[in-house]
Amino acid sequence: MRFSKRLDNIPPYLFAEIDRKIAAKEAAGVDVISFGIGDPDVPAPKPVVDTLCSESRNPVHHRYPSYFGLKEFREAAAGWFEGRFGVRLDPETEILPLIGSKEGIAHMAIATLDPGDYSLVPEPSYPVYGMGTLLAGAKPYFMPLKPENGFLPDLGAVPPEVLSSSKLLWLNYPNNPTGAVAGERFFAEALQFAGEHDLVVAHDNAYSEITYDGFVAPSILQLGGAADLAVEFHSLSKTFNMTGFRVGFACGNARVIEALGTVKTNIDSGIFNPLQLAGITALERMQETVRSMREIYRSRRDMLVRGLEGLGWDVTPPKGSIYIWMPVPGGFDSVGFSSHVLDRAGVFFTPGNAYGPSGEGFVRISLTVPGERINQALSRLREAF
Ligand SMILES: *Cc1c(COP(=O)(O)O)cnc(C)c1O
Repeated sequence: MRFSKRLDNIPPYLFAEIDRKIAAKEAAGVDVISFGIGDPDVPAPKPVVDTLCSESRNPVHHRYPSYFGLKEFREAAAGWFEGRFGVRLDPETEILPLIGSKEGIAHMAIATLDPGDYSLVPEPSYPVYGMGTLLAGAKPYFMPLKPENGFLPDLGAVPPEVLSSSKLLWLNYPNNPTGAVAGERFFAEALQFAGEHDLVVAHDNAYSEITYDGFVAPSILQLGGAADLAVEFHSLSKTFNMTGFRVGFACGNARVIEALGTVKTNIDSGIFNPLQLAGITALERMQETVRSMREIYRSRRDMLVRGLEGLGWDVTPPKGSIYIWMPVPGGFDSVGFSSHVLDRAGVFFTPGNAYGPSGEGFVRISLTVPGERINQALSRLREAF
């Protein structure tokens, strides 16, 4: 058998070794407390589950769904977006439902890139921007996110020979894994840069609703000129504790939305209607859940920040996302520190270089762990260090 060369470009899984160590610890009877998982631990809201269950019984939904999603879902997404960001989108041409935003993020590369083209990808980052690019036969150009720049990319540092064959610029704020946020000024600069170099801007706004200390995350589509060249990816996963449902949407520039739709109509056949109807329940009626989740994550963040500072470690409380991005204390690299904490305390933090080479020197600590487990982890760490 022979496989595509594109697969040869997908890097080997870096942390197989660490996964083995966690499994070995557990097999040896250690109750490992993992801060590795970016998956909400709280169930989806009951009315959302009720909608899914009752609608599933209607045989009308047992047939193929529409390629472009239910009109009602696109309208609910437009309504949520206008209420939240004050921007009116056309549900017919400017919104496209996705089988989770990951699906659309990966397919964006097929919609915009040819072999030999570049996409501009921040790193450390959610891996799909770069992997989607590689699977499309194109090349990611990685822009390092550094603490001294507030984890914003230095767009001016992209070499001209890369820029001339680049078509797509990826951004993600509130950011996974760094927890950094970006304001309108940065988005305005990115749009201007993209306009000058004929790039499509794709902003992954999966954490738009999970922010702290009064910070409210903007949409890039709130900025003047964005409609000409930007799309934004939204996900119900983190916002409404619905990761398993696989519902999200892309929105923004109608030509990009159409191109992404063309890719999708030839690969998938849309989202099970009851899931879209459950999504409507979330978008229209679950704002209280969003508020309470924000409060839960904030209180976990504060517990962890206080506890880790108490150990003499240097932590900055994130203003958004569900992650603390902590520099590893003296003498260790990311993998070494992660293994050390696992050995000494049975606590797992993800090594930062899992998300790109500039993540070396950091660990990612996820806030998807209940308060009592956080306390338990902190007391184990205090004993061990
Ligand atoms: C979790 C996550 C997503 C994926 O969300 P789905 O809608 O569940 O596919 C996208 N982007 C980032 C940065 C994420 O952390």
